[in-house]
Amino acid sequence: MEKWIADWQTALVLAGCEQCDWLFLLPPDQLPLVCPHCAQADLAQMDETADKPIYTRPPELTLPYRVDTAQAQQKLRAFAQSAWFAPPDLKAERLTSRLHPVYLPLWLVDADVRAQWQAEMGFDYQVVSHKEEYRGSQWHTRQVKETRTRWEPRLGRLQRHFNNRFAPALEEQAKIEARLGRFEWQGSRPYQPNHITHALVRLPNRPPDDAWPEAQQAFMQAAGEECRQAAAANHSRQYKWQPHFSDIHWTQLLYPIYTSTYTDDEGETHTIYIHGQTGNVVGRRKASMKKARRWSLGIGAVGGVLLTLSFIAFLVGLVYAQVMAATAVLFIAGLITAAAAFLPILYAWYLNNYSDGRFEPDLAKSPVLDR
Ligand SMILES: [Zn+2]
Repeated sequence: MEKWIADWQTALVLAGCEQCDWLFLLPPDQLPLVCPHCAQADLAQMDETADKPIYTRPPELTLPYRVDTAQAQQKLRAFAQSAWFAPPDLKAERLTSRLHPVYLPLWLVDADVRAQWQAEMGFDYQVVSHKEEYRGSQWHTRQVKETRTRWEPRLGRLQRHFNNRFAPALEEQAKIEARLGRFEWQGSRPYQPNHITHALVRLPNRPPDDAWPEAQQAFMQAAGEECRQAAAANHSRQYKWQPHFSDIHWTQLLYPIYTSTYTDDEGETHTIYIHGQTGNVVGRRKASMKKARRWSLGIGAVGGVLLTLSFIAFLVGLVYAQVMAATAVLFIAGLITAAAAFLPILYAWYLNNYSDGRFEPDLAKSPVLDR
């Protein structure tokens, strides 16, 4: 009987979601708990031996939260307030009550690489030409500068050690990265059991063997960039190499996010993610068609009342001419209001069908890492 949870050196249980298949390690007192990833089912406690996941080793490094719980709650409140015609479940207090810190795994890979490589290197150069132009009844000569690229084949040998290249430990990594932005591994610290006592930890579903092709890709990108710099080229293309790797070392890094969830009018659940270091919030904002319809009806009713009043004013104006002026004002106000009545349902319909409803106010600030 293999007891592997003990290696994590803190009291944890294994629990999984039958809807999204995410597996977590979490403190036993956190159960029962709705799945913090999909919110479609309760996490079910599993047997550490019988249900042993594909990879179970504790991480070597963790990246600390820079956004604390109070700041994350503030982000969720802003998210809820920014949603127009929000479904009843998209409320600040509901979102904050479902806030969970979650640690996700990522591989950092080191290796010695020996390789033969070849590529086309591009060198920019400037061409000056002259254009004749007829302006103001005479000819003028204008100097035109143009940048062109000269491509030259290059080849060489490379021998060096690469540190901390990223490789995904989760099948969902690309999707998560596309939404939240990347994480800086700098600032990570050696794993201590107390780092994870308040968070749920997602276990890798891609062990090193499985993530190796992506790691090689990351090494090749780094090598290609170094060769370009060594050749003092502006661009490179068609980089090919025959690498030989040795002394490969895998480090599991846990990086911090928060999740929360809500259910829309159609009963579909949506997950909101917060980047644990930058505080970026990403999630779909759905509108409630019911609520938008009520607003449309309300505005439409006001428009109807104004148009009716303008008709009455018109009838009265036939007798008392001084009322006629009010007729035009009421009629125009009524028309504008009636037209505005379509806006809420149009907005909600657009948001639910055509906009991805994303809320990412400072994604531009998210760190971009060199691989
Ligand atoms: Zn789930």
